[in-house]
Amino acid sequence: MAAATKIIEQPQAKKRVYSFAEGNKDMRDLLGGKGANLAEMTNLGMPVPPGFSITTEVCREYLKRGRKLPPTLMDEVRAALAQVEKGLGKKFGSPRNPLLVSVRSGAKFSMPGMMDTILNLGLNDQTLKVLERLTGNRRFALDAYRRLIMMFGSVVMGVDRKKHFEAAFEALKERLGVTEDTKVGAKDLEELVGTFKEIVKRETGREFPQDPHEQLEMSIKAVFESWNNRRAIEYRRDNKIPQDLGTAVNVQAMVFGNIGEDSGTGVAFTRDSATGEHVLYGDYLANAQGEDVVAGIRATMPIQELGRHMPKVYGELKKYANKLEKHYRDLQDIEFTVEAGRLFVLQTRSGKRAGQAAVKIAVDMAQEGLISKEEAIERVSAEQLEQSMHPQIDPAYKVRPLAIGVPASPGAACGKAIFDADRAAEQGAAGEQIILVREETNPDDVHGLAQAQGVLTARGGKTSHAAIVATGMGKPAVVGCDALVVDEGARQFTCNGVVVKEDDLITIDGSSGRVHVGRVPTVPPSMGKEFWQLLRWADKMRRLGVRANADTPEDAATAFRYGAEGVGLCRTEHMFMDEDRLPVVQEMIMAVSVQERKKALDKLLPMQREDFIGIFKAMKGRPVTIRLLDPPLHEFLPREEQLIEDVTRLRLTEPDSAELKRFESLLVRVNALKEANPMLGLRGCRLGIIFPDINEMQVRAIFEAACRLKKQGVEVRTEVMIPLVGHINELKTVRDQLEKLAKKVMKENGVEVEYSFGTMVELPRAALTADEIAESAQFFSFGTNDLTQTVFGFSRDDAEAKFIYQYLEKGILPVNPFQTIDETGVGKLMRMAVELGKKTRPDIKLGICGEHGGDPASIHFCHKIGLHYVSCSPYRVPVARLAAAHAALEDKSGAKARADV
Ligand code: PEP
Ligand code: MG
Repeated sequence: MAAATKIIEQPQAKKRVYSFAEGNKDMRDLLGGKGANLAEMTNLGMPVPPGFSITTEVCREYLKRGRKLPPTLMDEVRAALAQVEKGLGKKFGSPRNPLLVSVRSGAKFSMPGMMDTILNLGLNDQTLKVLERLTGNRRFALDAYRRLIMMFGSVVMGVDRKKHFEAAFEALKERLGVTEDTKVGAKDLEELVGTFKEIVKRETGREFPQDPHEQLEMSIKAVFESWNNRRAIEYRRDNKIPQDLGTAVNVQAMVFGNIGEDSGTGVAFTRDSATGEHVLYGDYLANAQGEDVVAGIRATMPIQELGRHMPKVYGELKKYANKLEKHYRDLQDIEFTVEAGRLFVLQTRSGKRAGQAAVKIAVDMAQEGLISKEEAIERVSAEQLEQSMHPQIDPAYKVRPLAIGVPASPGAACGKAIFDADRAAEQGAAGEQIILVREETNPDDVHGLAQAQGVLTARGGKTSHAAIVATGMGKPAVVGCDALVVDEGARQFTCNGVVVKEDDLITIDGSSGRVHVGRVPTVPPSMGKEFWQLLRWADKMRRLGVRANADTPEDAATAFRYGAEGVGLCRTEHMFMDEDRLPVVQEMIMAVSVQERKKALDKLLPMQREDFIGIFKAMKGRPVTIRLLDPPLHEFLPREEQLIEDVTRLRLTEPDSAELKRFESLLVRVNALKEANPMLGLRGCRLGIIFPDINEMQVRAIFEAACRLKKQGVEVRTEVMIPLVGHINELKTVRDQLEKLAKKVMKENGVEVEYSFGTMVELPRAALTADEIAESAQFFSFGTNDLTQTVFGFSRDDAEAKFIYQYLEKGILPVNPFQTIDETGVGKLMRMAVELGKKTRPDIKLGICGEHGGDPASIHFCHKIGLHYVSCSPYRVPVARLAAAHAALEDKSGAKARADV
């Protein structure tokens, strides 16, 4: 009997190397962004120099296998190289017609400048001579060789580039009395090549490798290694790119932009990346290689000039740019080289753009029919929209910044550099425009920051103290600007050879991280027609309503202009702080009898009524949530230390004066109202329970204002919000008392207005017992400022000034919980309150009025847990409208129709 034949399945060998013709744009995981795009462009018929990509999988394997290439990889590389050679009729290492290649990194997500590149591989002492002969340009060939030794020597062999190669080049130029690289002639370059080779030998103990295949293998390994260099790891951490993806390696035939005046290199954006205008935008440098543009050694010329120099090439470039933009349906950032009058496209990627440009490009592209309205909304991030609402450095101002740091809080600011917080506080308070400059800030600097226009630090990232505090204060910040050497003792910083002394003017842009010396032109935020168009589209897509926190008629009018659909929080205490009213408020607090207090309250009533009339009018019938007095009363009295000082002084100078008596009684009252921990003391609804007549005055003012307007035919909807409720009995007591009064006022006026009574959920106990609380509340508004404080047991001011940044830097907290809702803790209570509240009262209205209501990530969360609206500061309303649309588009359950907010 014949033995059964067994078919042994051979595992399919993994393909590790893809020629550009084999890939496409959807293969970013495997080929990296650059490789996938090079493949796509090749298949679109673009003039891409031929080449191939080694997959990201190989990188992962390499790093896993203890930095060893898979055994057959170099065979596959040689096979792919042979195809390139065939196509070009050149050969790698050939003594007759040598092929030169570049080796570049390229991860799935763009990590500009973070990993390594080596150009001109394949050159050695022998091929150098051939290149010289073939191009007839000895200087060019030597220049290419010295670049290779420098790049290879530093990137692959680990020689310090600055210390050795650049220093040697600088020394040579100094000896020759020239400043520009291009002024160094062939003879001197030949000497430099010799010096560079000696440096390699001296620093590494081995010769610069002459075998092109050895150069290639070593370069591939070095690019894989560069995935794990410190810069790259930090960049990925900051940009939330997974650390385990690995990079692809792209090997590509070299083309040269530096072999004569009909050669050059440049970068072209398909639209203006600063303004969004639909024009070809970018820079060109004749007779140069790509790295010269990046290094900024020579001044580039605007791309339009290329049209004058080489109209045919320019025409072709425009055609390809158009084609690429249409194909990718997005702004493209294209790198190209012209070699002896022939155009090559080297790279295309989706272009980075400033906020204002992002808005315009998205709207224009949707109107051109290139993308849908939904895509337009998705294309603009909340941060970009916000950026477009801040002043920025004039995009037409092309002067290279002195340095670029981490953009940590948006907006441009100009002022005198001040190096210590005390002086900053002093100068700022005196009305000077100042920028606080520090190595890094700490809690002792907060008073200086509070008076500065912006802050600049040499160290720290987006979670540093300076970044957190400036963001909280809404001031521009550039942090981690490591090109700055700050000498706080000498009150100056040095940067790239420039010394900036105390009181010198500087300009910072917290949106782009740029730092300039002097006053640089800034442009006010441009909220053009595209801005409003984008928001109108967003409104059609979102489910969440957007209201604003507004305390005055002016705030309400701003909120209305920005599209707020109501006022979600009117903090009435801000009306008490007004200069004219404060004495009356103090009279009210000082009153020893009910009658005395009533006198003061009677004076306050018309003032409050006028405010409410103003706000109701500004909101034109949209709902207005008015919160009853919340802070402890001592906040309206002078500070104790000040009073003690005044009393002591007056006792010595005017012992019999009436003023002394007044200060003495104020001091007695301040002491009586003093609390060990006012944040947890007599405030919120507790105040109204102890002093019911204050609440009554406020409710009378609200309903008298509403009735008066109603009688004039003005639509009014009001919601009375009772703060800091922890127990249902607190709410019941206050609501019963006040609703009776509201009805009485309406009766007195003979009109009914639309109203409701509700509460803030800002204490853990309110959230835990939300089912009980909902019996007496027609709406909940989450006060996530207090809720975060009480859930964490942090006082916000102390935490943000003193330790949150350390928590963030140490990774103890992933985000600042006062900026973004802590979903696992605070968010859990919110979810619970929503469910419990709805169980008791299915139609309960749910909103948020803590500052998180303007934070995009928190808005996503509010959408997820089914709130009806978010309320934020008037200036954040546009960002909230866009973020709410993003949340709805992401919600695969299908955005439900918007509820009445
Ligand atoms: C809150 O606590 O979230 C809130 C909005 O109230 P305030 O910030 O005024 O305490
Ligand atoms: Mg609160």
